[in-house]
This record gives sequence, C-alpha cells and structure tokens, in this order.
Amino acid sequence: MDMSAARGARERLVVVGGDAAGMSAASQARRMRGPDELEIVAFERGHFTSYSACGIPYWVGGDVEEREQLIARTPEEHRGRGIDLRMRTEVVEIDVAGQRVRARDVDTGAESWASYDKLVLATGARPIRPDMPGADAPGVHGVQSLDDGQALLDTLARTRGRRAVVVGAGYIGVEMAEALINRGYEVTVVNRGSEPMATLDPDMGRLVHEAMEGLGITMVGNAEVTKVLTGEDGWVRAVATEDAEFPADVVVLGIGVRPETSLAAAAGLPLGAHGGLLTDLAMRVRGHENIWAGGDCVEVLDLVSGQERHIALGTHANKHGQVIGTNVGGGYATFPGVVGTAVSKVCDLEIARTGLREKDARRVGLRFETVTIESTSRAGYYPGAAPMTVKMLAERRTGRLLGVQIVGREGAAKRVDIAAVALTAGMTVEQMTALDLGYAPPFSPVWDPVLVAARKAVAKVRAAADGSSGGPAGGPMPTR
Ligand SMILES: Cc1cc2nc3c(=O)[nH]c(=O)nc-3n(C[C@H](O)[C@H](O)[C@H](O)COP(=O)(O)OP(=O)(O)OC[C@H]3O[C@@H](n4cnc5c(N)ncnc54)[C@H](O)[C@@H]3O)c2cc1C
Repeated sequence: MDMSAARGARERLVVVGGDAAGMSAASQARRMRGPDELEIVAFERGHFTSYSACGIPYWVGGDVEEREQLIARTPEEHRGRGIDLRMRTEVVEIDVAGQRVRARDVDTGAESWASYDKLVLATGARPIRPDMPGADAPGVHGVQSLDDGQALLDTLARTRGRRAVVVGAGYIGVEMAEALINRGYEVTVVNRGSEPMATLDPDMGRLVHEAMEGLGITMVGNAEVTKVLTGEDGWVRAVATEDAEFPADVVVLGIGVRPETSLAAAAGLPLGAHGGLLTDLAMRVRGHENIWAGGDCVEVLDLVSGQERHIALGTHANKHGQVIGTNVGGGYATFPGVVGTAVSKVCDLEIARTGLREKDARRVGLRFETVTIESTSRAGYYPGAAPMTVKMLAERRTGRLLGVQIVGREGAAKRVDIAAVALTAGMTVEQMTALDLGYAPPFSPVWDPVLVAARKAVAKVRAAADGSSGGPAGGPMPTR
C-alpha cells in the first residue's frame, strides 16, 4: 500500500522506541532527508530519550553527579531537528497489512492510529524479573532505565541500613556492586553460577571473584534466590536462597534481559531462537520490505561462530540505528555482525572479552588450544606496573584466533580491542605476533601481553600439529 500517496508526497517514517537504536535511526534518516521529503514520528513510552543506561552504575555510585549528564539529546532537541517525538506514548499494536500502529497515551489512556510508509522497531530489551515472593517489594530495584536509577537513589537516600544484596553477577551486577561499595554499603553478590561474569570462562571468572572478595564484597556462588523477605513495614529485609538468608536494606536485580519483542511477535514478525527479531544485513526485518529493527530487540550474527545470538549492548544499538537511518533515508549501509566484544570493571579491576569462550567453541564443533599468560600493564621496571592475565583460544591446525579474555588493572579492558580487530580480520595467532603495536615502558612491556599470549598460542598450536597422528584433532574436552 502506498501510504504517502494518501497523505501527499511526503513519506512517513514511524519509529517505536526513543533511545539508542531508535533515535540514532531517526536522526540519521533526518540527516539524509529533509522534513519536506520525510516526516518522522517517534514514539517513546518513558520519560527520557537518547539516554545512557550504560552510565547508570556510575551515576548511582556517585562518579557522575547529575542524571542529566546521561542524556545525550532531550525530546526538545530532537523536535528542534524536525522529529515529531511523542513522549509517554506506547505503541500497543502493529497492523502490518494496514501499515499502521496503534499508540496509547500512557497517562490518559487515549488511543489513536498512525500510518507509516516505513517502520523502525527499536523497543530494546526488558529485564528478567524473578518469579518469586517479594520480588516487587519496596527496596528491590532493577537498573534498566533512568527512572529505575532514580528510584534506587531515592531508596539509598531513605534507608538508614547499609547492607545491600546484588542478585546476579553479570557485568551489570558487578558494576552495581562497585556503585554500592562506593556509596559505603556492605555488599553481598548472590549468583546462580559458580563464578561471576559468565561471559568469561570460569577460570577467568575466578580472578574476578577473588578481586571482588579483595574489595570486601561477599561473593555467594551456586546459589539461587528463592524469595525476598519483607519486614512489618513491607520493605525488603533479606534475600533467601535454599540454604541461607542474607540481610538486605536494599536489593539490586541484575539477572539479565530478554529482547522486548512482544509487539513484533503479536504482529507475526520473524523471531529467532533467542526471542529477538531477525533481520538481514541492512537491518531490514526478514521478509518485510518496509520494516527495520535494531538494538536490543534483534539477534545479531556472531562472525566467529557463524550463529545468531542476542547481545544487549549499546555499542551495537547505536551502529544499528546508524545503518537503519542510512537505508531508510535512501542510502546504503550494512551491519555485518559482531565478534562479541565487551568490557566492564569493578573498582580498579578491568574485565574484557571478545570472541568465543571454551564452551562456545565446543558447542559449534571447533577444536582449539587455550593458553593463559601472566604479564604486566607496563614494563616491569616502570612504576605502577600491575599484573594482567590474558587467556587466548586458537583453532587447532589453522591457528585462527577464536577468542581472548583479559582481567587486570589499568589498560586491560581496551587491550581487548586488538583481539577484536584480529578476530574481525580472521587473523591467525601467528599473524598476530607480527602486529606492529605501540610500545614504550609506561604503556606496556616490550612484548604486549596480548602478543605474549599469541606467541604462546602459536607454540601450542604447532606442538599439537606435530604431535597429531592425522586423526581427529583433540582440543580440550568438556570437563564433567
Ligand atoms: C545498567 C546498564 C549498564 C549498561 N552498560 C553498558 C555498557 O557499558 N556498554 C554497552 O555497550 N551497553 C551497556 N548497556 C546496554 C545498553 O544500555 C543497551 O544495549 C542499549 O540501551 C540498547 O538500546 P536500544 O535502543 O536497543 O534499547 P533501549 O535503550 O532499551 O531503548 C528502548 C526504548 O524503547 C522504549 N519502548 C519499548 N517498547 C515501546 C513501545 N511499545 N512503545 C514506545 N516505546 C517503547 C523503551 O521505553 C526504551 O526507552 C547497559 C545497560 C544497562 C541497563
């Protein structure tokens, strides 16, 4: 259906979701095409647009003073750039055949339909909320949105007790543990897995575990939270697992997210195995010529494993938005996929990963060698040199780099970018050893820790090839 013919010459782009992916797409489309060619209507059900959820732990922890510092662009600024942004308005239905969406004013409940020529879905992800008694009690907080961050800060200002429990030890749980330590809380992190940071192999997660305990954080692993206990005033007083109770004046939930695709599912749009929308390389929803999707609501191609994954990261959401806006605006751009790079920190401990973990490689049938090396952030003799551990996976026979994990102090996190580039380029660990990386004593040892790991990986791949009888390659087998 040509909706623009019915409305006059101007095409209409409708965007659902007003944060990283949605407003990047809207802004880029506006750069490509002026208001007389393209009308842009964006719906956001919340109070904020273009905000950095990534900054919430640092705002809660006090490193960032004002909420407004986390807002890249306000609704007024977007409107000033010719985007008809409708705040506190939730899209509740997509009529794909009729090319229109039904929108509801969150405050008044008033509903209306808006037609589109092109539609962008950027609805993000929704936090997993544990289905257990007390999960909604006052004093229990998620940290997905700026409203969540504000509610948590209000609770911290109100509570006199200083005991905090963080449920979940992914990167958000780990960053929130730091925020609460910085606020002077006694922090306990309760985690289902044995080690924090399940995006690392357990041996590297162990290093994070030890460092967090060194910071005074109580780490409880292999523990499932079964209920939140409340006091007579209805407020949280403890978190219970099968075996124990942990007193809490405040609880922060960080147990992961799922793609927010309920609207898309109801409209019959294609979803993948992880519940995210499936798109082509131009970020167009598969099988739908005039619908695009990006950010936390889509699945992305993992270029190392060749499989689709759901990875909720702002860095991807912004790139998706840029690609979508370019294509919607009549240009051409693609998003080829990701290698799975992510960095975070807890106090001065930096944590980085890219590519495949051991279990990812096994799952897709890759045989590999692993090496783990200890090095330092600066030349050993230079003041302030701090330990750094690098783990590297390389494919058997070919020596192709498969993944890198780094845990250490300053400089550990962004060092992983070397490996991210090498993975993207499909380099072998042998090729990596010749990389012309910068060196001076204040920045690294003469052999950068990543190159030390690459050299050791080369030796191991060669030794395995020499020792091989020509039968099936025997990478490390799963431990039982
Ligand atoms: C605490 C925290 C720390 C993080 N740290 C990092 C980090 O360090 N690095 C990193 O890369 N990423 C980080 N992230 C992840 C990053 O914030 C997200 O990946 C990014 O915000 C995704 O952008 P998005 O636009 O896809 O989705 P969102 O930011 O979730 O935005 C989606 C928007 O759509 C709106 N919406 C949803 N459904 C509707 C509807 N039906 N109608 C109208 N509006 C709707 C929502 O209200 C929301 O504003 C962090 C996230 C959190 C929560």
